[in-house]
Amino acid sequence: MTTRLLGLLGGMSWESTAHYYAYLNRGVRQARGGLHSAPLLLHSVDFAAIADMQQRGDWAAAAKVLGQAGQGLAAAGAGALLLCTNTMHKVAAPVAEMVGIPLLHIADPTIAALQGAGVSRVGLLGTRFTMEDDFYTSRLLAAGLTVCVPSAADRAEVHRIIFDELCLGQLQAGSRQRLLGMIDTLRADGAQAVILGCTELAMLVGPADTDMPLFDTTALHAEAAVMWLLS
Ligand code: GLU
Repeated sequence: MTTRLLGLLGGMSWESTAHYYAYLNRGVRQARGGLHSAPLLLHSVDFAAIADMQQRGDWAAAAKVLGQAGQGLAAAGAGALLLCTNTMHKVAAPVAEMVGIPLLHIADPTIAALQGAGVSRVGLLGTRFTMEDDFYTSRLLAAGLTVCVPSAADRAEVHRIIFDELCLGQLQAGSRQRLLGMIDTLRADGAQAVILGCTELAMLVGPADTDMPLFDTTALHAEAAVMWLLS
């Protein structure tokens, strides 16, 4: 029986944290059977405050909020940290430094899965922070991947869909079609696969909607955390 306890920084948004919670518990049950589930602690923030800091570009304040929340998880016994959002990995390094326990980075299992599938040129969908700042793409590039992102207009649209719809739990068929159009354009640009680089995106598009291989960061991140819990 595992004694490992996972610390989740969630609520960004809670719509995707709910999926993390289900993936983690299902993963441990599948591996251990019976009534086994994932030992975890969750600090779920008020996302409005974090989204406001993102918009103001006050990443230092966001890092402080998440770092303090992580310190609470570590003090309560968490042995590793799962930051349940791609975007906030912009501050993964200062948060990990404040907390002092390993942070399981969301890009790492995604990179491993892409490499395992033989993908070298990949499309990236996410918030404009994830697609446009270099904290995320630089990690992919350092792993030898070539990254394509949508046009400026499409990046603005996927960002809007994430914040105005998915983080509010709204699933709209028109937005699904727009994302599928972007996926087709990324394919035409030579992408062999697409990273769903926002933890809410798999709520709207999945393998049933396209034959383009999709790499869902929520599922891959949770899977890596299950492996940590079981190791
Ligand atoms: N959950 C999203 C992500 O994975 C966006 C919300 C946020 O800004 O944290 O990037």
